[in-house]
Amino acid sequence: MTYNLKPKTYIFGNWKMYLGFDESNILVHALLQQKYVADNMCIAIFPSALAIREVAMAAQDTPIAVGAQNVNWNPKGAYTGEVSAHMFKDVGCTYALIGHSERRHIFGESNEDVRKKLEACVDVGLIPVLCIGETKEDREAGKTQYRLKKQLMKALDGLDMRGGQLIIAYEPVWAIGTGDACLPDDARDVIGWIREEVKLYQSGIVPVLYGGSVSGDNVVSYVSQTEIDGVLVGGASSTYDTFSTLISRVISK
Ligand code: PEP
Repeated sequence: MTYNLKPKTYIFGNWKMYLGFDESNILVHALLQQKYVADNMCIAIFPSALAIREVAMAAQDTPIAVGAQNVNWNPKGAYTGEVSAHMFKDVGCTYALIGHSERRHIFGESNEDVRKKLEACVDVGLIPVLCIGETKEDREAGKTQYRLKKQLMKALDGLDMRGGQLIIAYEPVWAIGTGDACLPDDARDVIGWIREEVKLYQSGIVPVLYGGSVSGDNVVSYVSQTEIDGVLVGGASSTYDTFSTLISRVISK
């Protein structure tokens, strides 16, 4: 399969809680050795909060950006165990994942929480990656658009981005970490629909990524679709072999 790279193809790696401090540093240094020339690619990694500062220092002034996996919306205060958007910005983050399905479904994050986190990102100048997705039950009940519409509306209606960038990741919950990736044509259709929905709330360019069991074997089938601006990768971003293979496949096409 051949295709022309879009102006920018996003490859974001969510390291979840897979890697400790040393493992995170080893992986970022191994990726940096590759010296990916990234004029038409935007690569970012999302380490654990513990490793972010070191990873961001290693990646400073390189084509690899760093982001937080989650933020607290308060600037500071008595919020034991939490880390604010401001604190992540302060240690070199460019991006933050907001409303990842594991936050929504394991930790009970609501659409209202997601909205406050988006606002906190805008306040401090972090680029939010708003994650949305339907569950298997939604999908089987024909409620995919209903679920996504609700998540988008609660997150974006009246949200003033103040000229900052917004990125959306379409991540069907049933496809995350399951090996059951969404068919590329289905992801394309849903993302095409998301693009139209987003226009109700935001002007300007809003890149939309696909996430859910993306691997080196299937990545090209997503990024070759004009509607899909890139991928948010979980498991396959957490080892050098799998992530570098995936990036190389995108570059070499
Ligand atoms: C994710 O964590 O956003 C994700 C898509 O995970 P995985 O690639 O492992 O399905």
